[in-house]
Amino acid sequence: MECYLPQLLLESLEGLPGYDRTAFENIHCSGEQVISVRLNNRKIPAVAELAFADAAVAGNVPWSTDGYYLSQRPSFTLDPVFHAGAYYVQEASSMFLEQVLRQTTDLTQSIKVLDLCAAPGGKSTLLQSLISNTSLLVSNEVIKTRVNVLAENITKWGAANVVVTNNDPKDFPRLENYFDVIVVDAPCSGSGLFRRDADLVKEWSPQNVTMCSQRQQRILADVLPALKEGGSLIYSTCSYSESEDETIADWLVEECHLIPVAIPTQPEWGIVETRSPKHQGYGYRFYPDKVKGEGFFIAAFTKGEKVAPVWQSNKYKTKSERLAAKEIDIVQPYLTTNESFFFIKQQDETIALPAHLENELATIQHSLYIKKAGVKMGTIIRNELVPDHELALSNCISKTIHAIEVDKATALQYLRKQEIKLATDLKGWALLTHQQLPLGWIKILPNRINNYYPANWRILNK
Ligand code: SAM
Repeated sequence: MECYLPQLLLESLEGLPGYDRTAFENIHCSGEQVISVRLNNRKIPAVAELAFADAAVAGNVPWSTDGYYLSQRPSFTLDPVFHAGAYYVQEASSMFLEQVLRQTTDLTQSIKVLDLCAAPGGKSTLLQSLISNTSLLVSNEVIKTRVNVLAENITKWGAANVVVTNNDPKDFPRLENYFDVIVVDAPCSGSGLFRRDADLVKEWSPQNVTMCSQRQQRILADVLPALKEGGSLIYSTCSYSESEDETIADWLVEECHLIPVAIPTQPEWGIVETRSPKHQGYGYRFYPDKVKGEGFFIAAFTKGEKVAPVWQSNKYKTKSERLAAKEIDIVQPYLTTNESFFFIKQQDETIALPAHLENELATIQHSLYIKKAGVKMGTIIRNELVPDHELALSNCISKTIHAIEVDKATALQYLRKQEIKLATDLKGWALLTHQQLPLGWIKILPNRINNYYPANWRILNK
């Protein structure tokens, strides 16, 4: 719990809509912690199917379809269902992105969405759950060391229609007029997360707020050419400072000619609608003394009028090697028949992507550095697929693959990459499942079972 709050921050918030200094200080000193998770609706449709160890479900996050509060923080690390990608531990206020996306975008259409500042993947997994299967999500993170955790969380989420990239915002104008929606969850001074992370309090300074505000403008100016005419920009921070929030909204209207969009909220949600001082741009403030969640700000804009698409999606050809027909015959049975895929080879690994994204992959390959795309299926060795972990966690894996259901203790042994023993007549590759959710691959040999859980993902604590 962090009770000390910087005086300069408290003073700078005076007069802002919804700011009540006493209530704000009290909630920071109360010791209250809000824990929330969001279900992966394509893996687990009902919260009733989840058991969070000692934590009971304490109601749903009112602005989120799949978000739930928990009564206390369980050990997520020791929950196999968490490792299977059935839910994401996400701060409740930021789940409001759902309302903003629904209000600004027709989600029944095939759309292209960019999450520009995506690591570790909270907003990206939410966006993926909301877009249609025929849509594309480009989930980007500029900082190399943070891309791995993003790719891991996207892999666990199991969707094939996501491409993870590692680019600077400056690289995106190469995709001029390309995205229907761009989400910029900007790096910020972090005051909204003071209850969670005491280090942020120590690092806070007015100079840092100014530096963040300038960086936010730079990021937005760099990426905006990639937004289609008529497309939506969603901007958010976890800072209370006006210069990172409403000032940026004014700047987007004045300098970038964006049009602010109002998002309806329910009074009982406790979210404060603000208007930017110069251009009356709408913004939504989340104060922890008013909402059950952390500090957050979000605003939506459209970029002018919708015009006929100018982007030619068939401009480029994919640079990747295609799979031979014989190889497709080997990998195809591992995938659901409900969707069609195309296959590429990267080094020796086979990757499956939704068929309708073929042109998009070529376009993105031409312009960005791709860390991960679609679902890595594995390597073909002597006419047999050595399956990859990504395939095990993917929503497009075939239901006909052999699976062995195990109890929690065995699941945890597996996730620790320990030796496991099972009574089974099966031979060869099989999925290990817990609560019917795939955890990963095992190979059953005559005298032992090989555990193929990725070594760098294994649970280390006892
Ligand atoms: N959207 C993420 C989520 O919901 O899980 C959280 C994003 S965090 C608020 C901001 C991200 O911006 C960080 O991952 C950080 O590495 C990245 N970032 C830092 N500097 C950046 C820059 N100059 N341009 C773009 N992104 C940057």
